[in-house]
Amino acid sequence: MKPSTIDKQNKNASAILSEIINQPTVSRASISSATGLNKSTVSEVVKQLIEAKLIVEIGAGESSPSGGRKPIFLKINKTAGVSLSIDIRFDQISLLTAYLDGEVIQTVSHHEQINKQNIITRLMKHISAIQQETPSTLFGLIGITISIHGVVHDNQISFTPYFDLDEIDLVTALKQHLAIPIYIENEANLSALAESAFNTPYTHMVSFSVHTGIGAGVILNDHLYRGYKGRSGEIGHTVLYPGGIDCPCGNKGCFEQYCSFNALMKRYRQIKNDQTLTYDQLINHYHEQDAETIDLINRFSRDLSIGLMNVMGAYDPEVIFINSEITDKLPEILPIVEQHISRSIYNEIPVYRSELGSKASLYGCAVYNIKTFLMVDQFRFNV
Ligand SMILES: [Zn+2]
Repeated sequence: MKPSTIDKQNKNASAILSEIINQPTVSRASISSATGLNKSTVSEVVKQLIEAKLIVEIGAGESSPSGGRKPIFLKINKTAGVSLSIDIRFDQISLLTAYLDGEVIQTVSHHEQINKQNIITRLMKHISAIQQETPSTLFGLIGITISIHGVVHDNQISFTPYFDLDEIDLVTALKQHLAIPIYIENEANLSALAESAFNTPYTHMVSFSVHTGIGAGVILNDHLYRGYKGRSGEIGHTVLYPGGIDCPCGNKGCFEQYCSFNALMKRYRQIKNDQTLTYDQLINHYHEQDAETIDLINRFSRDLSIGLMNVMGAYDPEVIFINSEITDKLPEILPIVEQHISRSIYNEIPVYRSELGSKASLYGCAVYNIKTFLMVDQFRFNV
């Protein structure tokens, strides 16, 4: 029995599951006081959830000072099902499987050029391999969430500037092969969900993804904010320099034509007149105090700080996390960025380097799958 078939008429099951998944130790009594549900209702729903094998009882807790009965703790039955996360870049597909508490089982990456012709065949091959390697569980794969580096609205890809996936209906095509719930979501939005699930004190945050392109995922009041048609946080296509560099979106001077990884590398190779240079070589040049590279990084940092301040003005977050291989390998950029921000009205908003690295959106897919399967509003990683 899946959670959606339990107690469908009211929200009690999801309120109780939410307590169990998000608190380190939970008993029937603590659920009752946290949710305001009376004890007999809690006991009845807990009984259904245990019978459905979604939760389990674990050891007895300490007895109360008055000598009352020892409470029995409740935990999610994490091995009842498996979440599958998939991240699709134009040159790479990554997959991650996790149990219902978010514990990662396996992560794999395949380097291959992706387009609308080959995507379904490639995905089906990788999903079949994962299904064979994953331990068998009661519910099997509970959901597949796919991270897209582009705009997603209503389970459709509406804009992918660097490949042609916006010309196909990915979810419908996959559903012809798989009887598993399939969702797609923007990469930066998923990274924001993951950041929120790991950094729970913040209720307003922005996760800033700087990869081939630039996007921002926005969490407002603990909830992902997508905007009217999924374009919230599409900061990469706001204009930094009017009439500037051509962008595949059709505009000129877009932010990501100056501050994406590709933009930085293009400029660096132009300056050095060598198309073979790598990012590691840029870092070496920087550390060797090469004047041209220092100037390049200073200009990059200033442009990046403008984009960050635009996001700060639009959403007023408590904190911004930057997820990028650029700042991961060259953290010296952040103090320069902070210096620019310190001269603005946004000077109290900290900018941190994300610790989730290249797996951020994959964790976000797991958060989405688990929240949807368990019908819970919030999910925190307790692992
Ligand atoms: Zn653009």
